[in-house]
Amino acid sequence: MTTDRGTTGYTLDGNDCIVSVFGAWDTFALENDGYRCTSGKVIGTHLFSHIHDNHSATAVRSLLDAARTSMKPVSIQYSCDSPNLARVAEMTMIADEDGTVIVAHHIISEDPIRTSPKTKTILDGGPLRTERPIVKRCTMCMRIDTPNGWRHMSDLEPDYTSDCRVFHAVCDDCIKHLRSGSSRAAV
Ligand SMILES: [Zn+2]
Repeated sequence: MTTDRGTTGYTLDGNDCIVSVFGAWDTFALENDGYRCTSGKVIGTHLFSHIHDNHSATAVRSLLDAARTSMKPVSIQYSCDSPNLARVAEMTMIADEDGTVIVAHHIISEDPIRTSPKTKTILDGGPLRTERPIVKRCTMCMRIDTPNGWRHMSDLEPDYTSDCRVFHAVCDDCIKHLRSGSSRAAV
């Protein structure tokens, strides 16, 4: 399913403080359990005070550096699920000469997350698991962190993540590729 909710995002000053938000920011924040992220609570704060995963912070830092250095728009696609929707979004960073960066998010697709029985196996030989509290998904290459390493969804049971909380992160491969200058791991 595709959706057109417009573009939302924020503007950073040269020190990565959020100076304004735009688009349907508050609507989007409230729909996604983001009551702590409404405009009144984020304007004037430092962007990185909202990013608690080290790899994600490194990825965002690399993209900001790339946008400010190249002075060209830098875009990546990433997963951005809400409790009920599997979403793919695109983030674009556009830097100005004074260090200001516009960070725009646009949702490309969203689909309902299916519910499923509690017990599943991992097709690639992993152990039978009866509970899966939290799984990590790389926001850049979309792979899932499994006991057997980072795997594409196509290598796992279709419902592998359906009864888990998905925690967004960035995998080691994508971090490596970001540092080397390309936008995602060739995996
Ligand atoms: Zn990755």
